[in-house]
Amino acid sequence: MNPMRIFLTKLATHPLALLVLFVVVFFGAPYLRGATLQILSFALVSILFTQSINVLTGMAGQISLGHAAFFGIGAYGSAIIAKTFGLNLFLTIPIAAVVSSLIAYLLSYPAGRVKEVYLAMMTLGFGQIFLEVAREWTDLTGGVMGLSGVPSAGLGTLIILGHKFSTIDYFRVLLLITACSMIFIRNFSQSRLGRSLFVMHYSELAAGSVGIARRQTKQLAYALSGLLAGISGGFYAHLVGYLGPESFAISRSIEVLVVAIVGGLWSSAGQVISAIFFTFLPEQLQLFAEYQFIAYGLILTFTLILFKQGIGGLLFLPPRFIRQTWLTSAQQQSQAVATNNKTSEPLFLKIQAAPADIKVQAITMRFGGLVALNSVSLDIQAGHITALVGPNGSGKSTLVNIIAGVFPPTAGQVFLQGKDVTAQADVEMAKKGVVRTFQDPRLVPHFTVRENILLGAHAKMHYTWLEAGLSMPRVHQQEAQALEQCNEILQLLDIEAVADQAVESLPYGYRRMTELGRALLARPNIILLDEPAAGLSDVEMTRLAEILVKLKHLGITVLLIEHHMDFLTGLVDEVVVLDSGSIIFKGDMLGMRQDPAVIAAYLGDDEVQHA
Ligand code: ADP
Ligand code: MG
Repeated sequence: MNPMRIFLTKLATHPLALLVLFVVVFFGAPYLRGATLQILSFALVSILFTQSINVLTGMAGQISLGHAAFFGIGAYGSAIIAKTFGLNLFLTIPIAAVVSSLIAYLLSYPAGRVKEVYLAMMTLGFGQIFLEVAREWTDLTGGVMGLSGVPSAGLGTLIILGHKFSTIDYFRVLLLITACSMIFIRNFSQSRLGRSLFVMHYSELAAGSVGIARRQTKQLAYALSGLLAGISGGFYAHLVGYLGPESFAISRSIEVLVVAIVGGLWSSAGQVISAIFFTFLPEQLQLFAEYQFIAYGLILTFTLILFKQGIGGLLFLPPRFIRQTWLTSAQQQSQAVATNNKTSEPLFLKIQAAPADIKVQAITMRFGGLVALNSVSLDIQAGHITALVGPNGSGKSTLVNIIAGVFPPTAGQVFLQGKDVTAQADVEMAKKGVVRTFQDPRLVPHFTVRENILLGAHAKMHYTWLEAGLSMPRVHQQEAQALEQCNEILQLLDIEAVADQAVESLPYGYRRMTELGRALLARPNIILLDEPAAGLSDVEMTRLAEILVKLKHLGITVLLIEHHMDFLTGLVDEVVVLDSGSIIFKGDMLGMRQDPAVIAAYLGDDEVQHA
């Protein structure tokens, strides 16, 4: 690993180094030239604005081409309230930012229904609507003539509680707010909620499978992003003292995206550097101003070609999404527990009540004209390991999807512990203890094994986004507990050695184990495993069989889809064979291997010889 990147990362995350930087800038401000101070203030506004993209696009993967609108709502909002009611910016900026946040929250409803290009178009449209309103609502915004007379430090018209705010005072307040926001975002990104934004980015199905509510997660991303954009817009308004609609055109939306991407999505430190760079450069090179957007385009293109992770990826190690100190305390706790617990079974997984069972009754699933499942009925017995086998395309994954609540069946019912749970959403099923893995592992690629597994604990933690950002005691306590349980799972799966490596750099077998770990941390009563042994080595397969037996001992009901007959023999209590959407056999392994219908449809002749 590159020593320079290690050093810079230590520096950029070291509390004392950051405090020193803050103090130097804070107290050094009076020694700067007025023009420099002004540009630095713009850079701070840009940093704040970029953080709103960091949350929405970097973390949650939601593209926005209309973010200038939220910036504008913050700016016009604060300016208009200040002018109309004579309130000071300590009131007007928060009010305007909350309005911006609320509108972003509302936008999340339509935005949550579309993806990619459509989302880009929709947000672009939203930005244009805002711009038109700013241009046409002359009474409120001054229209194309703009809104002048906004209380501003630069103009000497910013008076707060009888104290005239100088540009230095303003800069200091802005610096403090920016620093606090950055700390907030960092805390947030290292919490269950920050991590949940990332899993939404990569797989909404994976999110649902561990009880992460999709709509609420998007709402949170939009609302928080709108809040930050609103705050930055508010500070912009009182910095310039004049607002014209052209300041909130599409070019500003593009600019903030460029700053965020060149800085490196989800790298706050890279974005700070990028924001400063993009604020100073045009000022330094006056000539540059005319060609500003050509230059932006070129820089962006080169960034995407040469270093995809932007400045952040170039200078720093990838950010982590777990608080290191909490991990250390969890580690110590785990060692203490390990010396007392000789069974090496994660005791927190032990099912408290009786194990759960699932009854599937006359399930039919049609995809257009295709009948994937044809009146399938099945009992998955409590505390047993049940295997679901059959040729490719016979409907195995579809059955798991229906039980897990990914989609409702065309007809038929599913009962969990005798209660009808047909067509309940995956998020609800996960909360009821029905957790699954996928045929193709769905993980956050740049998360470590540990971070991915920790996603499973999301619904078992209960602190809010505000507590996360403010790093309240409840956050510490719940995260540390989840980390301890995660340690037990890493031990059970025998993947401790790779716990802190990004999953994208690991072989397939580890990814499967990681996904199993994530499902286990969600504390299932029933676990549905879709081909967990596919792609595993013989050693890993033996290990998996041992793990499944341990899960059974802990009282967890297991349903697994599998093709390897040798793997299943001696492991499973029941086997169910599907063929073309219908069940052709239920019973034990020996019976299955001798069943003529199964041999004809699935096993073929050489399997008979094995049996
Ligand atoms: P298996 O897991 O047994 O290999 P699947 O359950 O994945 O089989 O698929 C059963 C049939 O249903 C296949 O013909 C497949 O193409 C079809 N199918 C599965 N999921 C969908 C879907 N979401 N949309 C349309 N067809 C699907
Ligand atoms: Mg399948």
